[in-house]
Amino acid sequence: MQNFTYQNTTKIVFGKGTEEEVGEYTAKHGSKVLLHYGGGSIKKYGTYDKVVKSLEKAGIEYVELGGVEPNPKLSLVHKGIELAKEESVDFILAVGGGSVIDSAKAIAVGYFYDGDVWDFYYNNVEITEALPVGVVLTIPAAGSESSTSSVVTKMDGMYKRSIGTELIRPKFAIMNPEITFTLPDYQTACGAVDIMAHIMERYFTNTDNVEYTDRLSEASLKTIINNTPKVLEDNEDYAARAEIMWVGSNAHNGLLGTGREEDWSSHGMEHELSGIYDVAHGAGLAVVFPAWMEYVYQHDLERFAQFAHRVWDVDPDFKDLEWTAQQGIKKTKEFFSDIGMPVTLAELDIPADRLEEMAEKATENGPIGSFVELDTEDVLKIYKSALK
Ligand code: NAP
Ligand code: FE
Repeated sequence: MQNFTYQNTTKIVFGKGTEEEVGEYTAKHGSKVLLHYGGGSIKKYGTYDKVVKSLEKAGIEYVELGGVEPNPKLSLVHKGIELAKEESVDFILAVGGGSVIDSAKAIAVGYFYDGDVWDFYYNNVEITEALPVGVVLTIPAAGSESSTSSVVTKMDGMYKRSIGTELIRPKFAIMNPEITFTLPDYQTACGAVDIMAHIMERYFTNTDNVEYTDRLSEASLKTIINNTPKVLEDNEDYAARAEIMWVGSNAHNGLLGTGREEDWSSHGMEHELSGIYDVAHGAGLAVVFPAWMEYVYQHDLERFAQFAHRVWDVDPDFKDLEWTAQQGIKKTKEFFSDIGMPVTLAELDIPADRLEEMAEKATENGPIGSFVELDTEDVLKIYKSALK
């Protein structure tokens, strides 16, 4: 196990009706809020009204900015920063999923910066200050509600890039599983894949002796695997929605990376897909992750065999470790397919003509990944293997 620091300072407020308490939690951090949300689901399903009522009850002033698109765009972030400055807000409340939360985090860091906020995402300028952010989560997926990262897309050049700093870890995350009853099946499945990917990016590691972190990860993966089919069968299965929502946060708050090196090359490769083709992040991962697994599994057959055995209940064949390892990859891919996710680029309508460009961009700062380091050629081979 490696040395590590672990901190998760986001206050989790979990359960039925909790969005009605958002005013109280917000009042602890600010008095004038930028209320940030997406394309309208919160208005359609009543969450907006409850949030606004709770803010008003707590005497909190607010200005609002909706319209965050999935794979949030830099242009709206710029608008948000301008509005936040004009109105001198002291807190940003994100009501939505990863896209809304990441856009809110971008506004939070841009608020104190005189240059273009994109400098943080692209030019590695150090972030020194951010407005506090709070969250009412409407979709379990990105884990952004308690993570230190934000991912934003700049349409000019189609760059999807991220930042990571404790300064943007949300102060609180309100999570009512009932709010997720209205998710379309496709979004539910995308979320499940993203959650699993956040765990697997950390699970496939070269660090030895991480049994506790491994077993937490395996339990988390199994919980998603057990509960996703239940919510696809019955959208209003509260118990199953709650399990998924809780795993989603723990998958990405740092806990499952403790004591070990993390990989993140599949996310890097996926960001090129959703950056250029605007596909849902989870759907992109369902294509890229199994392709990555097939490319690298021979690097550590034992780890892949452990994954197959403990996560997918494959009976290990100790004489043929490679067979066991392959079964885990096969089961992962079958699961993604069974829950309605694409597993090839063709299913996402992504043609072969820009794979070289994506491979170049994914590795523009050098090789990616740590389990196996991937250079431009490797990334291109993985994209090509995912074509059909
Ligand atoms: P999302 O993009 O925030 O939302 C996806 C869709 O689901 C939207 O169309 C949204 O509609 C809809 N939706 C959300 N909640 C709903 C509900 N309760 N009922 C009905 N529809 C609902 O999804 P996401 O997967 O959470 O976020 C994806 C983004 O997060 C990607 O850009 C990805 O790269 C990023 N990400 C960030 C991190 C991180 O740590 N920062 C980690 C992984 C991924 P409305 O817009 O109408 O609300
Ligand atoms: Fe992700």
